[in-house]
Amino acid sequence: MMSVTAANLGFPRIGPRRELKTATEAYWAGAIDETALLETAAGLRAATWARQKAAGIDVIPSNDFSFYDQVLDTSVMLGAIPDAYRAIGAADSLDLYFAMARGRQTKGGRSETAGDGCVHGHGAGSDVPAQEMTKWFDTNYHYMVPEVAPGQAFALSTTKPVDHFLEAKALGYQTRPVILGPVTWLLLAKSKAEGFDPVSLLPGLLPVYAELLAKLAEAGADWVQIDEPALVLDLTDAARDAYRAAYAELAKVAGVKLMLATYFGALGDNLATALSLPVAGLHVDLVRAPEQLEAVIAGARADLLLSLGVIDGRNIWKADLAAILDRVEAVARAHRVQIAPSCSLLHTPVDLELETKLDPQIRNWLAFAVQKLGELATIAGALNTGRASVAPVLAENEAAIADRRASPLTNNPRVRSRIAEVTANWTRRVTPFAERIRLQQAHLNLPSLPTTTIGSFPQTAEVRKARAAHDKGTMTTQDYEQFLREETKRTVAWQEEIGLDVLVHGEFERNDMVQYFGEQLAGFAFSRAGWVQSYGSRCVRPPIIYGDVARPKPMTVAWWDYAQSVATKPMKGMLTGPVTILNWSFVRNDQPRADTCRQIALAIRDEVLDLERAGCKIIQIDEAALREGLPLRKADQQLYLDWSVEAFRISASGVQPQTQIHTHMCYSEFNEIIDSIGAMDADVISIETSRSKMELLDAFVDYKYPNEIGPGVYDIHSPRIPSTQEMEDLLLKAGGRLSADQLWVNPDCGLKTRKWEDVKPALVNMVAAAKAARVALTPGA
Ligand code: GLN
Ligand code: ZN
Repeated sequence: MMSVTAANLGFPRIGPRRELKTATEAYWAGAIDETALLETAAGLRAATWARQKAAGIDVIPSNDFSFYDQVLDTSVMLGAIPDAYRAIGAADSLDLYFAMARGRQTKGGRSETAGDGCVHGHGAGSDVPAQEMTKWFDTNYHYMVPEVAPGQAFALSTTKPVDHFLEAKALGYQTRPVILGPVTWLLLAKSKAEGFDPVSLLPGLLPVYAELLAKLAEAGADWVQIDEPALVLDLTDAARDAYRAAYAELAKVAGVKLMLATYFGALGDNLATALSLPVAGLHVDLVRAPEQLEAVIAGARADLLLSLGVIDGRNIWKADLAAILDRVEAVARAHRVQIAPSCSLLHTPVDLELETKLDPQIRNWLAFAVQKLGELATIAGALNTGRASVAPVLAENEAAIADRRASPLTNNPRVRSRIAEVTANWTRRVTPFAERIRLQQAHLNLPSLPTTTIGSFPQTAEVRKARAAHDKGTMTTQDYEQFLREETKRTVAWQEEIGLDVLVHGEFERNDMVQYFGEQLAGFAFSRAGWVQSYGSRCVRPPIIYGDVARPKPMTVAWWDYAQSVATKPMKGMLTGPVTILNWSFVRNDQPRADTCRQIALAIRDEVLDLERAGCKIIQIDEAALREGLPLRKADQQLYLDWSVEAFRISASGVQPQTQIHTHMCYSEFNEIIDSIGAMDADVISIETSRSKMELLDAFVDYKYPNEIGPGVYDIHSPRIPSTQEMEDLLLKAGGRLSADQLWVNPDCGLKTRKWEDVKPALVNMVAAAKAARVALTPGA
């Protein structure tokens, strides 16, 4: 008989009901003490181990728990603690840890997030800023960027992996500790010293890793999972050398075997390097990169334990167990294998059992983390004792897979035939920009450097309270809509009063820029407890795109219409773009993402045309998340950019030439993708530039970007109120780089996270800055 084990690489740490979030935030607020927080955390860990054991997982991870982020845990453990934090407390204190995660403030404090995927820094009032935070590979999980300096010394400063291993052991679980590998950690690290390569610190880092591994061995760990996801990236030869040097050294530690875990893609041109490393096991992602299995097997040492990542750790669909068995049965006969999720289950919601309100048919197509454990155990069981031994489970799985495949929900002929009608004409405006803009100017009659905002206005406590009451049913729809109309009307009137040129309705009716649309589109489902950690205590609940996307009826026209009816100036229509809706959802995996994106694009196109028909002259299609979908490997990026830009263009291109299309993107890196931004051919793009002091306009300048641009002059991520002078200076700077008649004046992003008391003076200043800049940049105009 074969002996195939079922392994897990990591389990969500937030708890089925976000218990960790509740406890951590209570601790931050001073409502519970450290002991209570530690107890909650230990309880969650114990429950997680028990759950994996009960599900039949043989190899259960430990040290996958974190109070904030596993990369931060690693940095602290290695003693990579910048001086600014050292004074705050001991390396193993929560004070120091949370200071690195969130900054440490006197009062007022850190602004949280826009609730829309934008990640914001700390606000004014902080004594010590938080470490920089960025996205973990191509996930929506964010890690704290390790900070190192030339000559950086390392020392084992905490023993969390050992402590948690022993904690599990005391409860009767022999776990496999998970640690982040040294090369990936260094490749993710940054230094303030220009030109300094953190990887050069490897020799000083390895003794600390060796010490940690020795301690784990001493504690009784026989295997350690060492994560090196950087092995799926484009690497330099120097980075590959670092891998060889690192693992040659770590192989010397006696008594513990290493399972080198790679995930989020194919090893590709790093395969030979990975296979040459003296480790006892190699984990490969066979969901993202099923095609690599053959090459991995062909190159693997006979004694290498292969961990086959066959269950999707990044999505929520039931696996096709029979299809997986078809692929791995022969492999398991010829090789030592382990069955695992493609990556840690951190990126999936915890438990489908809590979803009592989902349509039962759709629910039957899904597997959250707990259900994925069952799938792993079933596959291992089938490999060990034959498919017949798990026949009822396989039969049930097969029925669910067949039901999904045949369902009219996933296969709506009307959507399909419409998609088939799309021709190249749908993807381009009939008139070139130079002509369009003249028609638009005549149509709109705006001053030079027109002022506008990005869409949302403060989501006050009253707005949220009304929404919650309406959701609960304690406020009638009629009363709720009346309340929203009043908010909208007041906001419109205020914008006119301060002299903004192009108005917005304020988005008070929207809970979230993706959910609001998803809830009105066919093909989307929403979970009640499907939370996934985004960063720290912040969790998101992505919509589930299960079927063909269609728009049964207009989604935003009535609100636009109302807002325009109480305004004299032009009111922007405000939509979320197809790529952003796609990238912030769990997407069906039974067709290419590009196809799903195109369906969403058609739905948005219909909405754009309905807005135009209703009289809307300016329509903004936000693509805040376009850049996020960029594949990890350079070679794959162009294809993504091509179909995502095409989807945007399908959504935008149906309008008359005089209708002005805006788009908005809130990030700060355009260099790599500027060609695609140009190809979107939006008449106006607003971007985030205030913090970079207009530096990121360079990409647009070098590209000779022909269309209009609103470089953000008001940093909305902070409660700080920028002065007129400051914003005027930014505009003059922008005017020095771009032609004045290309420029718009707007904040960096939507204002929903801000307070009215900050927004009001800031926008008054912004309008004054625009007036001053008009005089300076367009004399005589
Ligand atoms: N229109 C949206 C808003 O203003 C845009 C948000 C975003 O880009 N993240 O809130
Ligand atoms: Zn934005």
